[in-house]
Amino acid sequence: MTGQNPVFIPGPTNIPDRLRTAMNIQTSDHRAPDFVNLLTPLLRDLKKVFKTETGTIITFPGSGTGGWEASITNTLSPGDKVLVARYGMFSHKWIDLCQRHKLDVIVIECDWGTGAPAQRYAEHLAADSDHQIKAVLATHNETATGVRSDINAIRKAMDAVNHPAMLYVDCVSSLASMDFRMDEWGVDLAVSGSQKGFMLTTGMAIVGVSEKAMAACETAQCPRCYFDFRIMANANASAGFPYTPPVPLLTGLRASLDMLFEEGLDKVFARHFRIAEGIRKAVHAWGMKLCAVSPDLYSDTVSAIYVPEGFDSDVLTNHAFNKYSVSFGVGLGEMAGKAFRIGHLGSMTDVMALSGIAAIEMAMKDLDYPVELGSGVSVAQEYYRKTTSIAQSRAA
Ligand SMILES: *Cc1c(COP(=O)(O)O)cnc(C)c1O
Repeated sequence: MTGQNPVFIPGPTNIPDRLRTAMNIQTSDHRAPDFVNLLTPLLRDLKKVFKTETGTIITFPGSGTGGWEASITNTLSPGDKVLVARYGMFSHKWIDLCQRHKLDVIVIECDWGTGAPAQRYAEHLAADSDHQIKAVLATHNETATGVRSDINAIRKAMDAVNHPAMLYVDCVSSLASMDFRMDEWGVDLAVSGSQKGFMLTTGMAIVGVSEKAMAACETAQCPRCYFDFRIMANANASAGFPYTPPVPLLTGLRASLDMLFEEGLDKVFARHFRIAEGIRKAVHAWGMKLCAVSPDLYSDTVSAIYVPEGFDSDVLTNHAFNKYSVSFGVGLGEMAGKAFRIGHLGSMTDVMALSGIAAIEMAMKDLDYPVELGSGVSVAQEYYRKTTSIAQSRAA
């Protein structure tokens, strides 16, 4: 095994050589006077990716899960009511985290494959006339089902009844790959991590914190220590860190932001859409179905695909790994055994996507799926051939 094949899991994602090189550094002193040159522009430039001018960016050693925990513990108190919908494994795990922090969690149960139901959020918010609900949570891109939700619709539901709750959004598998607008959508806590759209190794939680959320730290009673926003923000303000930062991830993040800005965020989003479209066309050519129930919900970073009746998706992903050395995402939670996932975010090109489509076709053929070799590849080829410009492929 050469380890040279790309991965098609929806995170951690493929790391471009430029970012591997950027993370491969000699130990560097985070208390040296030049650390300011790395940290300060980094925190400023991250705001452009979150699309916030008024928010503060906080990074912690950790992963997305640490970002969830930080967003909750810094801004809420045990017993606080929070409203959240469950439509996949990641929204489920965030709910579990809230419950274990002794929040009073109102769960809107949804079918997996659907997205955050703005209308049902609206009903709960309208009924909450004495404003007991302190936080409204949603997962922008549900990585288990390949569903993107309309966060702006939830913000509008909140504003329609002048509800003062804060809006918490998991954008771990969407930020830097699909459009995300922290200020415009009135997001108070936006949680992300280093290993998806930023194309880096796992190891950092990256959180956007609104002014309102920062103010909530004053009164929030949940215990926190390592993940304290105010301690981090105060240290960062003078280019310091309250403990040892993962400097190689910070130098990697610098290079990642440079790559994203050189390509242009809008072009990054357009590339993700195009690559995802090619994959969706292949899925349809195979006669298979996406978990996402309607096109408006299709994620441009991950596709979850039901295998035909009588087949086990875990057998398929194991076979692809064992025979072709290629990883695809397994079905999670309710999807276990029923669906596999193709991650197509971060460092991804048409050529890489075609290799993934071809590899999973071979694996399906080996296992006697009713799929014709080349059927998915050819429709994706046709689509990419017509939609790729030379400039786009160079930038990716
Ligand atoms: C990957 C991911 C997370 C975070 O998981 P970690 O493994 O802790 O980084 C959270 N939410 C979503 C939607 C994700 O895709």
